[in-house]
Amino acid sequence: MELLDIHTHHLPLHPEQAIFNCTSEMLWRQPFAYCSVGIHPWELTADAIQDKWNWLVLAAADSRVLAIGEAGLDRMIDVPFSLQMDTFERQIEFADAVGKPLVIHCVRAANEIIELKKKFQPHNPWIIHGFRGKKEQALQYVRHGLYLSFGERYQEEALCAAPADRLFLETDESTIDIHLLYQRAATVLSIPLELLTGQLKQNIGNVFLKG
Ligand SMILES: [Zn+2]
Repeated sequence: MELLDIHTHHLPLHPEQAIFNCTSEMLWRQPFAYCSVGIHPWELTADAIQDKWNWLVLAAADSRVLAIGEAGLDRMIDVPFSLQMDTFERQIEFADAVGKPLVIHCVRAANEIIELKKKFQPHNPWIIHGFRGKKEQALQYVRHGLYLSFGERYQEEALCAAPADRLFLETDESTIDIHLLYQRAATVLSIPLELLTGQLKQNIGNVFLKG
C-alpha cells in the first residue's frame, strides 16, 4: 500500500495510504502510519495557545509526522486575525526549523499567504490544501513556489493549469475513496491514471518522504 492521500481528517482504512491530520484534541494512540500536526485557526483561543504550542513541539518529534499543519489563515471565522497571524507565523518558522513541509489552510487570505512566503523565504515546501480557487489563483501560487492539493471539489480549469510536479490529491473531510479522486483527476486532465499516479507518487516522495 502506498501513500496517495496527503490530507485526511478520517483515520485511513489502510494506514500507509494517507497522512492523517492530528490535532491536540486527538488521542495520540491511533492506528495511522503517517500524520501531520499543527494548530488549525479554527481551534485558536488566546488562552489555549500555550498548551497547543507545547503539544505541537512534542508531537512533531514523532517519527510518523510527515508535515506541519494544517495551519493558516481564515477570514470567514470569528477568531481575531492578529491571533491567527501570530500563530501561523510561529508555525511557518517551526516547520522550516524542523525541515518539514507546511500544509496550509487558506480562506480568503491568498495575498497574505504570498506576502508571508516572500517575507520568510522558507526552505521547506508549502502546500495549499483543499484548493478550490480559480485558475489564475492557482497560477499565482505556483509562481511563488507553492504546491496545490485538490480535494473532492475544485475548479477543473485550476487543476489543468497546475504543473504536474506541483500537484497533490486529498480526501480532507470527505469519506470518498482516494482512488476515485485519482480517477476523476486523470479524466479531467485527459491523461492515463497510471501516469497521474506515478507523477503524484513522485511528488509525495519529493515533498513528504524525503529524509
Ligand atoms: Zn483539512
